[in-house]
Amino acid sequence: MKKPLKVTLITLFILVSLLIVIRANSVRQIDDVTPGIYCEKEYLEKADILWVIPNYNNTPISQNQEWCDYVVSLNKTLGMHGVQHYYPEFKDNLTQEYIEEGIKEFENCFNQTPTMFKPPKLEISYENKVLITNNEMEIKRYSNQIFHKVYHCSDTGTLPNWFHDLF
Ligand SMILES: [Zn+2]
Repeated sequence: MKKPLKVTLITLFILVSLLIVIRANSVRQIDDVTPGIYCEKEYLEKADILWVIPNYNNTPISQNQEWCDYVVSLNKTLGMHGVQHYYPEFKDNLTQEYIEEGIKEFENCFNQTPTMFKPPKLEISYENKVLITNNEMEIKRYSNQIFHKVYHCSDTGTLPNWFHDLF
């Protein structure tokens, strides 16, 4: 039996409303935090979780101690977002040494070990998933991105930062 259009629309409305409520009440995040990418202060401050790229454009974050101190002073939860963040980095054959390089940068910069990991553009192979999990990091991907407001430094996300402010 064909469902009446009205019922379908009401269901859709309820689901979208629910998603908006969940996103409004979940922690805000910002992707692509690294010294080489301009990041609006407003969004750095609004976010609860900062996703940091440890070695963007072959520029290790620990080389910029002033930046490291600034990020620590924001007093946010920090996660690791790729190592160099080229695309598609986490579909490549990466080694334990490569992951360790990122972790080490993170530790030298913030004096803490990353416990969460988000791959660039959320893409990651099975082998690299194992590698990240073996390094005791929890992988965050699509559901994290759907159920949270996720800003991007320099506003480069699929959805613009203003959209996340509204919905
Ligand atoms: Zn990114």
